[in-house]
Amino acid sequence: MAVVAAAADLSLLAYGDQVAGCTRCALAETRTQVVFGSGSPTAELMFVGEAPGFHEDKGGVPFVGAAGKLLSKLLDGIGLSREEVYICNTVKCRPPGNRNPLPEELEACETHLFRQIEIIQPRLVATLGNFATKLLSGKPAGITQVHGREQQVVLGGRPVTLYPIFHPAAALYTPRMLQVLEEDFRRIPELLGLGPAPVAAQPAPVAAPLAAPVEQPLQLGLF
Ligand code: SF4
Repeated sequence: MAVVAAAADLSLLAYGDQVAGCTRCALAETRTQVVFGSGSPTAELMFVGEAPGFHEDKGGVPFVGAAGKLLSKLLDGIGLSREEVYICNTVKCRPPGNRNPLPEELEACETHLFRQIEIIQPRLVATLGNFATKLLSGKPAGITQVHGREQQVVLGGRPVTLYPIFHPAAALYTPRMLQVLEEDFRRIPELLGLGPAPVAAQPAPVAAPLAAPVEQPLQLGLF
């Protein structure tokens, strides 16, 4: 098992180095750096969001702003840490002004995402928001229709459970959305075969810090 983990680690590192110089789409001209992904190279659970924002573009790590903090809290609520999962986005470079990724940018970058999935071999891929859900399900149904309902798909040549959930950024503005997100998160341990979520996964600890301002405009694709 340690050998497999080391091989995945090396493959992911090598591929990340390769993608760091990617110029396959126009986002290469405006990015500060490629935001490849972070977490365990052998994670059973992988999160796929939309695109890096301002802070991610500066720091090179996905989900480090207010939405990222909420993601960490939601993970904590189900007994998982960021180090145990893998987190990345559908496009690896920040769209200017946090606009939605264009179809040609999603198409150009999907090779990188599929290769990440191939290397990591997760059992469960949780898509955060519309773009990732549509891309990885291959279906047009939006996140409002399909959130919280797992689907069986083939990704990276292997059967994978796809689990669409709302993007955490959507819950920064709407308490009702936070509740939905928490409910959908609570099913993750069961989908991973870990049994029910720990009792500690309650809404209150997550909801409190959400008043923090978000510096960048919300991407419409989150809904
Ligand atoms: Fe390459 Fe993806 Fe960045 Fe476009 S968004 S330049 S395809 S890494």
